[in-house]
Amino acid sequence: MEFVEERQEMIRVIKEEAAYTYAYTGKKSIDSVILQVMAEIPRHEFVPKAMWPYAYANGPLYIGSGQTISQPYIVALMTDLLSPEPGHTVLDIGTGSGYQAAILSRLVKQVHSVEIVETLALEAKTRLHRLGYDNIEIKIGDGAQGWEEHSPFDGIVVAAATPFVPPNLVAQLKPGGKLVMPLGSSNKAQELIVVEKKENGETDQRYVLPVIFVPLVENHE
Ligand code: SAH
Repeated sequence: MEFVEERQEMIRVIKEEAAYTYAYTGKKSIDSVILQVMAEIPRHEFVPKAMWPYAYANGPLYIGSGQTISQPYIVALMTDLLSPEPGHTVLDIGTGSGYQAAILSRLVKQVHSVEIVETLALEAKTRLHRLGYDNIEIKIGDGAQGWEEHSPFDGIVVAAATPFVPPNLVAQLKPGGKLVMPLGSSNKAQELIVVEKKENGETDQRYVLPVIFVPLVENHE
């Protein structure tokens, strides 16, 4: 099964939703290069087979270990807000299925991704290797710590909400780099935010859209 038409329909819905949310996001459309990449990536390969009939619907899907793959429109928006460029090195927090990492891998030079649930990290590693994405490195660990060894990053994207912006992530951004993440706690309203590190090292924070994400698991080690 190729799901080519289903993917085209998913792209159409993403475009429609971008137009609906324009008042919030200030963005009438998602970058066409990002949409092209999303039209090619087999999202069904990132979800359990039982979910294949819903793989291209514009909703989150269960991926096991109590986790979900984010809604396609939100993935598209977060990718766009990151302003990826071919020479970039980016950090993806919360690998989950590896879908966000796969999209980024087609848009930038190198993706580093951190996942706290070992099973998910190992499954994503196997999956991404099998599908031929060879510029993604995955580590099992607490994403709030970032990945110092590979820093600084041109962009960081986080797929789980925290009540505060993790300071390590800001520290690991290059000047001019962007951090895109849901801010808030699990039981209260969350906002998708973009933190931009200016050339002088100061940061600007912008609220984009109300969202719902799983909470970032705290590491109590
Ligand atoms: N980007 C993923 C979305 C996964 S949902 C995808 O495309 O499929 C969020 C993920 O964040 C979950 O897999 C969850 O296990 C992971 N997560 C939660 N807390 C974390 C932490 N502290 N560090 C790293 N990953 C974390």
